[in-house]
Amino acid sequence: MKTYQHFIGGHYVDPLGGKWIDSMNPYRGEAWARIPQGCARDVDRAVAAASQALQGPWSKMVPSARGKLMLKLADLVAANVDRLAEIEVRDNGKLLAEMRGQLAYHPEWWRYFGGLADKIEGAVVPIDKPDTFAFTRHEPMGVVAALTAWNSPLLFIAWKCAPAIAAGCTVVVKPSEFASASTLEFAALTKEAGFPDGVFNVVTGLGQEAGAALVDHPGVAKITFTGSDATGAKIYAQAAKTLKRVSLELGGKSPNIVFEDCDLGAAAAGAISGIFAATGQTCIAGSRLLVQNSIREEFSKKVAELGRTARKGDPMQPDTNIGPVTTGPQYRKILDYMEIAKAEGARCILGGGAASDLPGGQFVEPTIFTDVKPQMRIAREEVFGPVLSIIGFDDEAEAIRLANDTIYGLAAGVWTKDMNRALRMSAALKAGTVWINTYRAISYMMPFGGMKHSGIGRESGIEAIREYLETKSVWISMAEGSPANPFVMR
Ligand code: NAD
Repeated sequence: MKTYQHFIGGHYVDPLGGKWIDSMNPYRGEAWARIPQGCARDVDRAVAAASQALQGPWSKMVPSARGKLMLKLADLVAANVDRLAEIEVRDNGKLLAEMRGQLAYHPEWWRYFGGLADKIEGAVVPIDKPDTFAFTRHEPMGVVAALTAWNSPLLFIAWKCAPAIAAGCTVVVKPSEFASASTLEFAALTKEAGFPDGVFNVVTGLGQEAGAALVDHPGVAKITFTGSDATGAKIYAQAAKTLKRVSLELGGKSPNIVFEDCDLGAAAAGAISGIFAATGQTCIAGSRLLVQNSIREEFSKKVAELGRTARKGDPMQPDTNIGPVTTGPQYRKILDYMEIAKAEGARCILGGGAASDLPGGQFVEPTIFTDVKPQMRIAREEVFGPVLSIIGFDDEAEAIRLANDTIYGLAAGVWTKDMNRALRMSAALKAGTVWINTYRAISYMMPFGGMKHSGIGRESGIEAIREYLETKSVWISMAEGSPANPFVMR
């Protein structure tokens, strides 16, 4: 079993409290590594290292040099895709094919934001005052605390740390206690790329201990968080006490909306990848399938037939479609929701329980409920598992009303051949991302984030870098002599 250490100030170090946490392999149901259980003193050390780097060599480095280091890091990640992907699969049980795909794409964030590092331009303002030269500067916010979820640990590092580092910030990452190993392995690559010590730090441990200490720390300027809305709200309230800047990427209950005029085969495949990919453990899961009533019966059968072909098993095997649920609490939560749905009167047409014939004991059947009513809990609450709720609608207006009838607003899918309707829907849906005739597509170029309870701020795309910059206004008077009246505003 491998024993990991924190990565602080460019070095791997033991936790000051001398405690470790077992990291479980959810497929095998056994511990495979130990990660440090960080405490407030470890967080102090990491924030001090990040602050020192910020004041020292990192702030002296010109932006184009920062960009070059980021390009180097991109190449190093590209050379380590298989190794890092296997570590993530061991930790979170997601499919190797999915994690390889994410890791192979990961370098693009470093390349894109590395290219942006020397294009952070202030502006000369044609100011409305005589004899004055005025301009703006965009400066790094400072030390960034990045708190991440267990489902895609290194993808979240790319989303958060590439823009933060391009902006000139330094970071302390606190990955999920359920999947920290890949982030600790990644840290070594930042050293190899040549980043000054302290630019990238990792402290692992429990949310309420190491995570909370980071949120409270006076040396942290900005928090960027990916996780549940309950934790996000807690962090937001806590961060307000020290007036930190906060970005939140939270949960969802995304509608996948199927109109009768669509390509039914493509829509059925879209419905499946929306809910069964990643065993449903994704914030963008299309967990509410809204289907036009004229095709509801036929389409539900089609989706169930396709869902039935899913092969459960070892996530390392290329022909596996459904892996284990990552954590014990999450596994129990999914099974509870299946029972709640049945008790509320939803009709189960696929799965509906645990799959107990596999090792590790944490498999659930891919599940579809139909006859779901919008007020049922299964239609309103995030399950974070392979559980689909099918809800019928008659027309476009009803589809929009049902789709927006949620506290969340992360993503939505629309399946139709009518492009006028597609554009009307894309304007009417209250979601940070709308996919037309596709689902679950992401890119480093495309802003991603949530409306309503799904979050605050955007990741990826040019605007993501603003999440890590402060604007400073600089005024220079070229006037000779003193003002006529120093007691009034100029
Ligand atoms: P979580 O909220 O339990 O934990 C996320 C992170 O916060 C972990 O690192 C955890 O240790 C830390 N944390 C927990 N309590 C804390 C506290 N009091 N103070 C500081 N840090 C604390 O979420 P999770 O179970 O790891 O992930 C699943 C959730 O994440 C789902 O709701 C999912 O929708 C959401 N998610 C969102 C996105 C997105 O981009 N919008 C992506 C993936 C997952």
